[in-house]
Amino acid sequence: MRRARSTTSKPKLGHSLKLLFDAAMAARAQAYAPYSRFPVGAALRSREGAVFAGCNVENASYPLVTCAEAGAIAAMIAAGHKGIAEFLVFGGGEKVVTPCGACRQRLREFAGPEVLVHCMSPSGGRVTYSVGALLPAAFGPEHLAQEELAQEE
Ligand SMILES: [Zn+2]
Repeated sequence: MRRARSTTSKPKLGHSLKLLFDAAMAARAQAYAPYSRFPVGAALRSREGAVFAGCNVENASYPLVTCAEAGAIAAMIAAGHKGIAEFLVFGGGEKVVTPCGACRQRLREFAGPEVLVHCMSPSGGRVTYSVGALLPAAFGPEHLAQEELAQEE
């Protein structure tokens, strides 16, 4: 997997990234993770310019967990925004947390392969990937023929 950028020192965040970081941290503080005790926060900047955040929400029926990334995307869609311009995810532990496989596909639905996904950890690590690097040769909305969708309407 190709890295776009990498650092293990304390990240110095630009203004735009600081807004995403703060939103992800605030959401992470609300995470419902009594089983894993692994709170995750995520935040995105929509193409329209607003910031949306989400946290993981676990369930006693373990498979029903909702990832932080999914929460942030759902908040964006609920607000009527159409696409992701930049994404940040902040997990726990020493290692930088990257989106799970399902969330990579969720990101791909609303973000082109060039969109950056910043993955950060409490230890100060940060690795930035493009959506294309996280999910190469992805299946996406463009694979569904528009003619077929039009016929179903
Ligand atoms: Zn996920």
